Amino acid sequence: TLNYTPLEVIDTKIQSSRNFYLARQLQLSHEKSPAKADLLFRQTQLKKLYNSILKHEENLIQAMFQDYHRARQESIGTEINPLLNATLHIINHLSKWMKPKRVSDNSPPFICGSIKVEKIARGNVLVISPFNFPVLLALVPVAHAIGAGNSVILKPSERTAHTALVMQRIIEEAGFPDGLVQVVQGAIDETQRLITSKDLDMIFYTGSPTVGSIIAQEAAKNLTPCVLELGGKSPTFITENFNDKNLKTALKRIFFGAFGNSGQICVSPDYLLVHESKYNKVAALAKEVLIEMFPEVNDSTEFTHLISETAYNTTLKKLEATSGEKFQAKSDLSDTNICVPPTLIFNCQWEDSTMQQENFAPILPVLKYSNLDDTLDKIIATHNNPLVQYIFSDSNEEISHILLRLKSGDCVINDTILHVGIQDAPFGGIGNSGYGNYGGIYGFNAFTHERTFFKQPFWNDVFLSMRYAPFTQKKTKL
Ligand code: NAD
Repeated sequence: TLNYTPLEVIDTKIQSSRNFYLARQLQLSHEKSPAKADLLFRQTQLKKLYNSILKHEENLIQAMFQDYHRARQESIGTEINPLLNATLHIINHLSKWMKPKRVSDNSPPFICGSIKVEKIARGNVLVISPFNFPVLLALVPVAHAIGAGNSVILKPSERTAHTALVMQRIIEEAGFPDGLVQVVQGAIDETQRLITSKDLDMIFYTGSPTVGSIIAQEAAKNLTPCVLELGGKSPTFITENFNDKNLKTALKRIFFGAFGNSGQICVSPDYLLVHESKYNKVAALAKEVLIEMFPEVNDSTEFTHLISETAYNTTLKKLEATSGEKFQAKSDLSDTNICVPPTLIFNCQWEDSTMQQENFAPILPVLKYSNLDDTLDKIIATHNNPLVQYIFSDSNEEISHILLRLKSGDCVINDTILHVGIQDAPFGGIGNSGYGNYGGIYGFNAFTHERTFFKQPFWNDVFLSMRYAPFTQKKTKL
């Protein structure tokens, strides 16, 4: 069982986080070459994190299995490997990212000065993570926070309790100096205690839009800046201009995104929009591909389960209420398993039970459309703005038409979900799917404040004296 951190201990942890940051800056201020010392310090801490993750790799895989029967392949391929790669990427690029950026401005007040943009740490920050990628979405932001020079508190999801405990061990055994990285375990009360603190310099939150709004409102009371990585209903199009020869691969790619992690992915293709000219063909092929990819889901299949009874019951209710035609992978599951086999729902309507909220389950509504603009109007009116949109089309004109009309956090053409792994490309939402982003240098930037540094000499004052009172007629006329 997960012992939640007592509320007064949370206050102490926030103070040690703050004190660590302040003491570290004081220490750096006494260094002969603070920039060099700082780079070395950050890289050393990141290497400790990297090694501790490696040491606990098997424990993480086991913990995720205990938490929700997470498929081993998914834990390795979508959590641990990308996390290790992201950490290495930070270590390798940090020296470049940390360098101040020179700026030149040739207008009279600035031409003789020296201008640069400094990348300073925000200070002591908080990372709050969700259950669906319990390791990746917790420790990648933590790595970025360290890389950017902050001290950090991690509040993992309590719903993946075994994984949260292993992450605590990873951090405690990494050998960090006291106060650099700390873990607070808990649920709503503990998170409330954290986010209402006056002593946080930033909150990086990943989770649902509803909770995201609570976090942002509390943070606003203390003017604490936030990054919100949220979810939503991400649409997938198979348009009239998509070449049939790639249809099977397209469906495999769509199912990879829609049914991976049991559909509990913030960037899952939430629903599929198929142009009427292709609908029958897609429907027939989709059934074949589903059977091929998921011949049977049984108690021993490597197929991730839903996170909770509540999520399970909500999904079953949606499936009961749907007016569409269900096509489900064959299954043989005992009653204790909270697992829904991959399910396609054909001839779905916009009013359907599966078309209201983000599904976050292995179910994929398939809708037929005839007019692209009407469909875009419908999306804009109901599910704005998605975290991502997927377009399977061979017409560049059509792709830009869709992209011009529909705002989204990101977009992927002819594939799904892989974009989250691209280094140095921003990953983040817009509108209802959140604000701010991360990924490689964008992660470093998210945890950094850009401070303008401007140093003016004195000898040029003669050219700048216009600004001083008294404002004589001569000055005013010029
Ligand atoms: P959640 O919002 O329920 O929980 C996330 C975190 O918030 C947890 O640590 C939890 O303890 C805390 N929390 C929950 N309720 C709270 C409350 N009332 N007050 C304060 N803190 C609270 O999200 P989840 O169910 O764990 O994750 C699924 C959601 O996250 C989906 O909507 C998904 O789309 C989104 N998500 C987004 C991204 C992204 O990068 N944009 C990634 C993964 C998941």
